[in-house]
Parts: sequence; C-alpha cells; structure tokens
Amino acid sequence: MSENTNIESILTENRSFAPPATFVADAGINSEQQYQELWQHAKDDPAGFWGEMAENLSWFKRWDTVMDGEMPNTKWFTGGKINVSYNCLDRHLETERRNKAAIIWEGEPGDTRVIRYQDLHREVCKFANVLKNMGVETGDRVTIYMPMIPELVFAMLACARIGAVHSIIFGGFSADAVADRNNDAEAKVVITADGGWRRGKEIPLKAAVDASLEKSPTVEKVIVVKRTGGDIDMVPDRDFWWHDLMQDASAECDAVELDSEHPLFILYTSGSTGKPKGVLHTSAGYLLGTMMTTQWVFDLKENDTYWCTADIGWVTGHSYICYGPLANGASVVMYEGAPNWPDEGRFWELIEKYQVSVFYTAPTAIRAFIKWGNQWPEKYDLSSLRVLGTVGEPINPEAWMWYHQIIGQERCPIVDTWWQTETGGIMISPLPGVTPTKPGSCAKPLPGVVPEIVSESGEALGPNEGGLLVMAQPWPHMLRTLYGDHDRFIETYFSTIEGRYFAGDGARLDQDGYIWVMGRVDDVINVSGHRLSTMEVESALVAHPKVAEAAVVGFPHEIKGEGICCFVSLKEDEHSEELQAELIKHVREQIGALATPDQIRFSAALPKTRSGKIMRRLLRDIAAGRESTQDTSTLEDYTILAKLREEDD
Ligand code: ATP
Ligand code: MG
Repeated sequence: MSENTNIESILTENRSFAPPATFVADAGINSEQQYQELWQHAKDDPAGFWGEMAENLSWFKRWDTVMDGEMPNTKWFTGGKINVSYNCLDRHLETERRNKAAIIWEGEPGDTRVIRYQDLHREVCKFANVLKNMGVETGDRVTIYMPMIPELVFAMLACARIGAVHSIIFGGFSADAVADRNNDAEAKVVITADGGWRRGKEIPLKAAVDASLEKSPTVEKVIVVKRTGGDIDMVPDRDFWWHDLMQDASAECDAVELDSEHPLFILYTSGSTGKPKGVLHTSAGYLLGTMMTTQWVFDLKENDTYWCTADIGWVTGHSYICYGPLANGASVVMYEGAPNWPDEGRFWELIEKYQVSVFYTAPTAIRAFIKWGNQWPEKYDLSSLRVLGTVGEPINPEAWMWYHQIIGQERCPIVDTWWQTETGGIMISPLPGVTPTKPGSCAKPLPGVVPEIVSESGEALGPNEGGLLVMAQPWPHMLRTLYGDHDRFIETYFSTIEGRYFAGDGARLDQDGYIWVMGRVDDVINVSGHRLSTMEVESALVAHPKVAEAAVVGFPHEIKGEGICCFVSLKEDEHSEELQAELIKHVREQIGALATPDQIRFSAALPKTRSGKIMRRLLRDIAAGRESTQDTSTLEDYTILAKLREEDD
C-alpha cells in the first residue's frame, strides 16, 4: 500500500451567503454566467484575454506579443513601452479625476492631508527629479524605509517614473534587516523619515538606517522626511532633508518609456516559512493584474472611498493601496498608525469619518477586533460600507461570521482573497456581485487564474481531498525571479510539481467547486497516518467562545507519530485545567476524535510575523522542546518566544 500523502479535511462548514440583490443590481460583474464566460475565455485563450484587458492601460508603444515563452520564464507584452507612474497619474489628469482625492491620509496623532490627483502628480514629478539629481538612474535600486505617510507613495511612483527599482522595507524592521535587504538588492539610495508614530511612540527610523549603513556599502545617499521632528543625526554629504531637496526641484518630469518587462520593484516575503525571498515584479503585467483585480474583486466604482489597512511594506500595500487603486483613479484612505490608538475604536471612527465604502483588512486584525469587543464598532456609523475584504491567512469561519454580522451588518459581501507576494495580485476570491460566499473559503479563481489541487505526485484530486495548490498557467502579474538568484526561483516554485507553479499552500476543492485553503503544506501534521491541516484544528478552537486565537503544531509522539499541540490565547485570562479539558472536548466534538488535542497551552500572545501571520515554525521547536536555529528576522515581538519557553518550564 502506498502511503497516502493527501491532507484529510475534518472541518465541515455548510453556511452560505448569497450576494444581496441590491448589490447584484449595481455590480460590474453580476452573474455566474458572465464570470464563467470570462474565466473560460481567459483559460482557453490567455493571450487573447489579457491582450483585450491591456487595452485598459496607456501605452507609449503597443506590445508585439502578449505572452512570450513558457512558464516559468514567460514574458508579457514584449515589444511594448509603458510607464506605471504615467498610468497611475498622468492619464487621470486628462479626465474629471484631475481634482479627485487620490490619497486621503490620516496620521496617528490625528493630522490629516488630502492629496488630489494633480497634487500627487506634481509631488511625484518633483521627487523624481530629486532622485535624478542624486544620481539615480533607470535600473538602480532604491530602498524605501518609511512610515505610512504620503511621501512613501510619492517615492514609489517617483521611482517608477524614472525606472528605478524600489525595495520597500517595513518600517518596523531592525537595522540588520535593513542592511540585509540593502545588500541583497545593492541599493544606491535610501529614503526614510526621522521617525514614525506607533501607539503614541516614535519609531526611530533614521537611527536604524544609520546603523544599517555601517553594513551596507552600496548605499551612497539618504533622503529623510521630517515626520516626527525627533532628534536625529544628519551626516554631511550623505544625508539630505526631503523638504530641502524638493524646494528647488522642477515639477516637469516626463515618465520614462520603459519596456513592459522593466523591473518595477523587489519585495521580500513575510518570512512565515523561512528566510525571506526577494521577489521581483516587472512593469506592464503587474500593473495590469493589480488594476483588473482591484476592479473585479472590490467591484470598484468611481465614487468609492477605498481603504486597505495593510502597511505598504507588505505586498498587499503595494498592490492594493498604491498600484491597483491608483491605476483605477480611486480615492484611497491611508492611515499611519495602530488600530488601537488612541483607543480600540480608531478604525471604525475612520470609516465613519471618511465614509469608507470598501474596507480590506487581515484575519489577524479581525481576531483582535473580536477580542476588544463589539462595543467599539457599535459606537460608530458603518453604513457607508459596501464590500469587505480579508487577506493574509485563512480566516477562521467564526471570525468571518463576526466580520459579516458586526462590521458588514449582513449587508456587505465579504471577499476572502487568496494570494501571495509572488502572485503580485489576488488569485482566488469571490466576486462580490456574483459568488455566494462560504465562511472560510476563498471561493473561485479569478479570470486568468487556473488553479489545480494535486497529490504530491501531481495527480488531480477529487472533491474534498486536500493536496497541493498549484497554478497550471502563467499570469501577467506573477513574479519573474528571486532577485539575483534565478536558480532558487526555479527550485522554490517550479520543482515540486512538473510544469506547475507551487508556493507552499495546501487546499481542497469542495463539491461546489469552492477552494478551501488549508494553510501551509509544511504545517500539516501526521497523526497516526492521517495528515491533518493545523488550520482546521485552529478554526475549531477559535469557534469556542473563550478563545481569541489559536496556533496548532505537531510534536514528536511515540505512538501516533505526531501529537497535536495547541497554543491558545484567550479573550480573558482564565487559565485553568478545567478549561484545558473543556477545549480538548470541544475540538473532539467539533471535528472528531482523530483531531483530539494532546496538549493545550495557554499563552497571552502568539509569535507572529510583522505582517501579523502566526509563525508556526517557531512554535514547532517549542512544542518539541528543541533549541531553535531558525530565521526570526521578521518576528514581531521577540519576547513572546522567551515567554513561551518559560511557560514550558
Ligand atoms: P514566506 O513565503 O516568507 O514564508 P509568507 O508566505 O507569509 O512568507 P506572503 O507572501 O505575505 O508571505 O503570504 C502569502 C501566504 O499567505 C500564502 O501563501 C498563504 O499561506 C497565506 N494567505 C494569504 N491570503 C490567504 C487567504 N485568503 N486564505 C488563506 N491563506 C492566505
Ligand atoms: Mg510564502
């Protein structure tokens, strides 16, 4: 008998919610048939489909070939000349969008700025000239290490305008993380700020840059935005104030005509599963993918006020704060600070204040909102909301239900969007005017996306059999390489299953053709020969009224091979043996004897990446009682690991 390598699904979720009729009536794509036709057309004739879509972009020179070559080395729109910044700015100035708000910004202390499209264009042109004056040339790499302030977007679009490649580093990372990324990308210039605000405290960004530069020999110049006014050191001839440089910069700067495949940015992945990878995206395909998916998934309308709460340091912020929405000429809300500053109602206050209609956040945030209590959202008027989205991790069905009832007030479709840094844009998601949603399922592939769920030997699996989630066809916004390491790119994504893209997640397809992502394949645990998704056990735990969050990992077990160890964070501290027993019984009842936890460990907090994803790989070491030698550079809070180890003793 050959060993079964499929993942067994034990979580059953039968609830389903059709899009409200009033929503469907106004939606851009609003029937299953329309979706099916688009999807089939894109599958059968991807070059034809994406060629038609590319008519939505402004080109200096039209492409010769839509799809050039096989996956993994497919090039898109070769022969074409384009500029991403032109597409996000200049073309809107010829329309009524000229005076539309592009960025509606709010700082953590409550200061606000509204930047219209023509203002954004002017600032970007000026800063592009600043970069040129600093000696930045087309193809040079520029590190951006900034708080969530409008200058961050100016800097991105200025790089794009002159064909410099940005590498954005999340503002919470350490000097070492900045140095590593500066060196990997061989950055010439760093753009930063004196500091940024987070929960009322100043994050000292410039000081971290100073420390990083001791180890980053390629960096020649630093440009510093004055944000907090804190005390910093300025090194003569190396460090320059943004406002000084901008004073004399010309507002005339033609967008450079770049090849479709000209590199747009490098972005390092979150590091949930290991050392971060330097994902490279290029111009035309990425722009097209983010533009179209923003339209499709959020059913974007001209008068929407759109808010994605991610930090621009993550791919979600790149694609769905900056490039996708701005290519569509949308009004984008951007917020600098924490969701619980000055109190836990801040997000809902902002939704009411700016009349946000599309709201896109992460499961980790939703679990925090639940823990903080309904009294916060209930204080505010959320009736402007139309569409809600999530991204980043599988969403536990109970968290989904809370989002649906308390925030969406059962009126707003929820789009659970599955994608990755590598995919550039959303791949699998409900369409809000079409797809009945099921809590915990990201539903169906978008047009142009052809997923398959296969066994480890590459055979297609039947309904509800869990396996590897792979992509059978290339798409325009996929990564082109890992910066400086094309062999690692092939090895990481294209060597597991012949001819398919695979980036590590497991999934199953249900009887209705819905995709359920079951977490990372690396996280699967083998209990007495049954391969279980840790995410399903976590969802069962989160369904218990006292549980706020859970992370489940396997540990070596003499009889079963692997045992189930659950790290549980409670809504209120009431650690007791009774509750441990109750949770074990609860999981057993919810998903069966096979999934009975061997250990429940209470923990005030769980180790997460800075982007909020649970880092199970670190918990595995703790559960097994091993010392860890893993990469922790993207860990949010180093003290959590120490605390977990103490709790172990
Ligand atoms: P690394 O690749 O360095 O380990 P990472 O995979 O966490 O880090 P990202 O690219 O930020 O880096 O995250 C992509 C991953 O997030 C996906 O592979 C998937 O595991 C998870 N994910 C994102 N959205 C969803 C979703 N809607 N449902 C389930 N999982 C999701
Ligand atoms: Mg990944």
